[in-house]
Order: sequence, then structure tokens, then C-alpha cells
Amino acid sequence: MSITQAQIEFDQQHIWHPYSSMTNPPTAYPVTRADGVRITLADGRELIEGMASWWSVIHGYNNPVLNSAAHHQIDTMAHVMFGGLTHEPAIELSRQLIEMTPEPLQKVFLADSGSVAVEVALKMAIQYWNAKGQPEKHKLLTIRNGYHGDTFGAMSVCDPVTGMHEIFSGVLPQQFFAPAPQVKFSQDWEASDCDQLEQLLKQNHDKIAALILEPVVQGAGGMRFYHPEYLKRARALCDQHDVLLIADEIATGFARTGKMFACEHADIVPDILCLGKAITGGYMTLAATLTTTEIGETISAGGAGCFMHGPTFMGNPLACAVANASLKLLRESDWETNIARIETQLKQGLAPCEKLNCVEEVRCLGAIGVVELKEAVVTSEIQPRFVEKGIWIRPFGKLVYVMPSYVMNNEDLQALTKGMVEVLSEYRS
Ligand SMILES: *Cc1c(COP(=O)(O)O)cnc(C)c1O
Repeated sequence: MSITQAQIEFDQQHIWHPYSSMTNPPTAYPVTRADGVRITLADGRELIEGMASWWSVIHGYNNPVLNSAAHHQIDTMAHVMFGGLTHEPAIELSRQLIEMTPEPLQKVFLADSGSVAVEVALKMAIQYWNAKGQPEKHKLLTIRNGYHGDTFGAMSVCDPVTGMHEIFSGVLPQQFFAPAPQVKFSQDWEASDCDQLEQLLKQNHDKIAALILEPVVQGAGGMRFYHPEYLKRARALCDQHDVLLIADEIATGFARTGKMFACEHADIVPDILCLGKAITGGYMTLAATLTTTEIGETISAGGAGCFMHGPTFMGNPLACAVANASLKLLRESDWETNIARIETQLKQGLAPCEKLNCVEEVRCLGAIGVVELKEAVVTSEIQPRFVEKGIWIRPFGKLVYVMPSYVMNNEDLQALTKGMVEVLSEYRS
């Protein structure tokens, strides 16, 4: 399969890419194939894929097991509406999700993307307090540097600075923001890190439906790894002040941080859990929001008599069938040993970056490796250099980071990190 110059020009003139400009379109490399941990560009170059297509392709591209699940399902039933109908792929997926997550989480909402899973979580929290006769508890509390998606409700709990809240200030609901946790994952815990969160809860709990946060790893809002004790304390404070806890594990879920779910680092159970990204191994768009029986039943006993959400492609059988195969692959693998292997490789491979003048900090957790620079990189300058080294990395701001597929072998991990070290040591030095 090839691509013509005319097609590339059409793309630049007519097609939005994520966070792109229509007058100064960024270069988008045409890609024609993807197999395992490699993507093939139209000019024949092969790149080692460091991003797993934004956390999602955990079993590699063109995976025979996932292909076969997709083929089988497409020949049977690609889609059918979920209103009034049900099917085995959705039932089996929900069964797996309930088995994999902590015991109190028993009710599953199958959403069509991460942002929608977050909207669903926020609506669940608001409907819950409404049904309990406390409709004034409809605000949300979150921590700075968070990222929860691009739809309005989700945006309202994203970091106000990186989320450009001022542009949308007239429309976005005003929420409560606690400072971002300061004690890092690897540092000694200091209880004062939670002081402001505690103050906000103390003063405003009668207006707050839920605290939403990314457990332990804040992703697109800064790739920050904070101390699990913060999360533990946040859980206790929510209980004390009658506020629900929503864990957004859309990025961290499915073993990325070395635990199946990042909440396990703090041994806590959220009231509502959002999952997405890796759920189908990166094949299809699908997400899920899980909650407890108590919340499910309370919502259903409220004025609406039901939970007020139901997308057209809810529970899409094709996506559910691939998700089933993907979760099975993950659960049957020795993922704990494997993620520890990747963490060791990333730590070793990225260590030389610590000595570079342009580097502020190197940090690795599970299958995530982050090099934070002192200044923001110019993506249009640095991206071609990574491509010349045969690696695919998509930096943003000061962050050059990788979260490879779990099937990447040590040799490829070494090539990936070596390429990063080389590009960064040559970059504006
Ligand atoms: C990516 C992400 C989302 C949004 O998911 P989409 O599928 O892009 O809508 C929400 N929360 C977190 C933590 C994410 O990483």
C-alpha cells in the first residue's frame, strides 16, 4: 500500500489531527503497516514504536490472537444496538472486568471512549447524590496537573492551565482544584502533602459529589508519579467527608504501572473506576466505567429511575470481542515479571540522560519511561531526528517519554532508549 503526494497534501489541507492547526499543519508521517512493535512508513522506513499508540497497543500491532477474535466477531455480528438487546461479547467482557477489579465494583457501563467513560463517571456521581436527596452535592474536586479527556465535563476537571480553561471559561462548569501532589513516588512520604485537599474537602464537602483523580501516575497533564500514600489518604478523606472517589485508570489500567490497576499501589478501592485505552489492545475504541452495587441501586431508585446515558455504539460487539481476547492474553501472561523487565530496561537505558545539560529528571515506573527536560522541545525539530534514528516518540512540552508495548524485547528496548539518549545529547547542545 502506498500513498501519493496529492493525498498527503489533501490531509494537510482538510484533516484535523489531534491538537493541530489548519494554517500551519504539522508534518504527519504516512504509515502503511504496523506489525509487533514496528510501524512502517510509506517510504519503507521501519520505526520501533515507543508510544504503543498512546498507551493502548499493549500486545503489539497485527497480533494474531486479536486479529482472529476480530475476524470471528465480524463474520458473526459486527454491531447491534444495546438498547433492548444483549450479546455474549459484552457479557463476557463485563464478567472479566468484574473479576479483575476489586470485589465492590459490580456494575459495568460500556462507553465508547475514555472521555465518555469520564462523563459517565461524573454523571453517576451527580445522579447518586441527587437520588439521595442532596442535589446540592454536584461539584467536582480534582488535583492539578490532571488529564481526564476532551469533552466538556472531562475538560472541567483537567488542569486549568494545560487544559486552556480560559478559552472556555464561559462554558466550563467551575470545579474545585487542589494542588498537585508534590511528594514523588520514590520519596519519603510527608503527610502535609494532603493538607490542602483536606481543607477543600472540609470546607466544601456539602457541594462536592466526587473527587476525581488519576491514581499514582498523572499522564497527559505532566507524566508525574506521586506517592501512593497520597491516594490512600485521599480515599480516607473522601470517606470521612461523604464524597465519592473516582479513579481514572484510563492510562494506568491493565498493568502499565506494574500493578494490574494503579490503585493497588495504595491498596484502595474507588467508588467509580474508569478504564479505556489498552482495553482492546489498541484495536478499537472502547472504554468502561465500573461502580458499586450501592451506587448502582441508589441511582436507579432516584427520580429518573435509571442512569441517564446510552450511546449509539454502546457495547459494540466487535470492540467487546477484541477486548475479551486482549484481557485474556494479558491475564494468561506473566505480566508482573514482564513489566518489571521493561522497567529495568527503561531505567538502565535512560540513565545516561541524567547527565545531559538539557535534562531535569529521568523517571521510570512500570512500562513508562519519562525524560523531563528543562525547557519545552520544539516537536517539529526533534520529531524528525527520532525518525532518523528509527524510533517513534511523540514528545509534548518538556516531556520526552515512552510507554512501549508489553511485547517489546530487550534488544528493541535498548535500541529505543539508545535512540532517545543520542537525540537528546545532540539536541541544541
Ligand atoms: C486518554 C485519557 C482520557 C481520555 O480518553 P479518550 O479515549 O482519549 O477520550 C481520560 N483520562 C485519562 C487518564 C487518559 O489518559
